[in-house]
Amino acid sequence: MSVENTIVSSKPILWMVIPCYNEESVLPVTAPMFKEELDFLIGTGRISEKSRILFINDSSNDETWNIIESLSEKDEHFIGISQSRNRGHQNAVLAGMMEAKDRCDMIISIDCDGQDDIKAMTEMVDKYLKGAEVVYGVRSSRKTDTFFKRFTAESFYKFLKFMGADVVFNHADYRLVSSTALESFSNFHEVNIFLRGMFPLVGYESDVVYYERNERIAGESHYPLKKMLCLAFDGITSFSVKPIFMITSLGVVVSLLGFLGVIWAIIVALLKKANSGWPSIVCILCFLSGIQLFSLGVIGQYIGKIYMESKHRPRYIISKRTWEKAERRYKG
Ligand code: UDP
Ligand code: MG
Repeated sequence: MSVENTIVSSKPILWMVIPCYNEESVLPVTAPMFKEELDFLIGTGRISEKSRILFINDSSNDETWNIIESLSEKDEHFIGISQSRNRGHQNAVLAGMMEAKDRCDMIISIDCDGQDDIKAMTEMVDKYLKGAEVVYGVRSSRKTDTFFKRFTAESFYKFLKFMGADVVFNHADYRLVSSTALESFSNFHEVNIFLRGMFPLVGYESDVVYYERNERIAGESHYPLKKMLCLAFDGITSFSVKPIFMITSLGVVVSLLGFLGVIWAIIVALLKKANSGWPSIVCILCFLSGIQLFSLGVIGQYIGKIYMESKHRPRYIISKRTWEKAERRYKG
């Protein structure tokens, strides 16, 4: 089999993918920090000079877009796109990744508020250069979180795992993804996206980088408890049909109990200890509630199947071929 011939350069192109929503107080502080890291990565020969910092304005209603525009006018390394309306963090990151996919060799997604250690990118890129296609940024501790945030967040990861969603513990959305993995990821056509649960499904060789998470540099979090709960609910319902399975199981248990209830009611009736009419009502109640819950579960199983089918997720992903060269090819 012939090996595809493409022009290759010696250094990979990195695009940082940074969602921004009403971040006028943060961007002027963090943009130079991203640039400093980019310069370091370019200067040390790790990545190509063609690498970029991509801001995704999630339809902010403050000065965020103007700041992004003026950054891009002053320095070609800064570029930006804007969403037509506010779609939330996950969709903003998705938009940025899809924009970058064919123009770079790897992306690193990171929030724009400086909470995630920007310098950890160096280690991520090093792991990419050693062969990892996905590098997860994992918080080494949650010292800066309040007890409540730490407790809820850690319980959330454990609960997601229990529910069958494969997530990396304490990893949010700070990650490096190679264009190869991104290409495969683009075949996931689901609408309810929960990125940290999706990349483990994409597979490929992965690695982790540990970092300390800081306080927000300025501005306030856009993830109050209500939004966090919505994200958690999305995470569970987008990845697992286990809740439906639990209803079916409950249906089986209730049916069995109902059966025992019927026997009990009959015995009580035979011993003539019951008021007239009572045994028949209890029998009907026990029988019907078990059957109802069980039937609901069975219908749920079918809906679960339709739901998984409707995602049109790729049924397989091929990561290597013997006729394709093992070493990395760079677009630049
Ligand atoms: N963000 C966004 N769209 C939104 C909300 C947030 O693009 O509707 C961005 C925000 O600008 C930040 C990142 O998503 O870069 C994470 O948001 P935030 O820091 O408010 O969340 P937290 O770190 O408190 O969970
Ligand atoms: Mg934040």
